Amino acid sequence: LEVEACPINELVKEVLDFFEVGIEEKDIRVDKNLMEKDCELYLDKKKIKQVIMNLLFNAIESMPQQGRLNVSTYRSPLKGSVNTEKEAFTLCIEDTGGGIPQELFENIFNPFFTTKESGTGLGLSISRRIIEGHGGTLYINNNVNKGVTVYVYLPLQNIG
Ligand code: ADP
Ligand code: MG
Repeated sequence: LEVEACPINELVKEVLDFFEVGIEEKDIRVDKNLMEKDCELYLDKKKIKQVIMNLLFNAIESMPQQGRLNVSTYRSPLKGSVNTEKEAFTLCIEDTGGGIPQELFENIFNPFFTTKESGTGLGLSISRRIIEGHGGTLYINNNVNKGVTVYVYLPLQNIG
């Protein structure tokens, strides 16, 4: 990893801007709730950007026409950490794309698992590996027939 101090909200905004046209074309409503004060995390900027791209792209692809995309960032306890005092930066991406059929859910992190005609099936497995490489965690909450919520937790302890 090539880490440098990155204002994380800025990264999220950059990726959202990148998808702006596609989002508008599909008439998707975006709710952005980014934490007021941006914070700098030591990250491999290119890799984390790739993760945000993958996750947002999945959310957008799940909604062929209309829908709601909620993107929020906030601080919370680091999930999955033994030390509950540990704080994390959290990125939450929620869509209304109908979610994943329950019987397929266990496969979604498997490399090459895809339900898309031109999918690679690599987005989630690579994203999880990158986040874990930063000492963080990536969780997916699947609401069948409703949508998917992805949580990315990155530890704050190495803030610059
Ligand atoms: P790909 O997008 O190339 O298919 P991913 O690893 O990004 O590969 O995702 C794997 C599979 O997980 C997708 O094919 C899809 O079935 C499911 N998936 C991921 N994100 C979502 C989402 N936001 N809504 C519905 N299904 C999703
Ligand atoms: Mg994908």
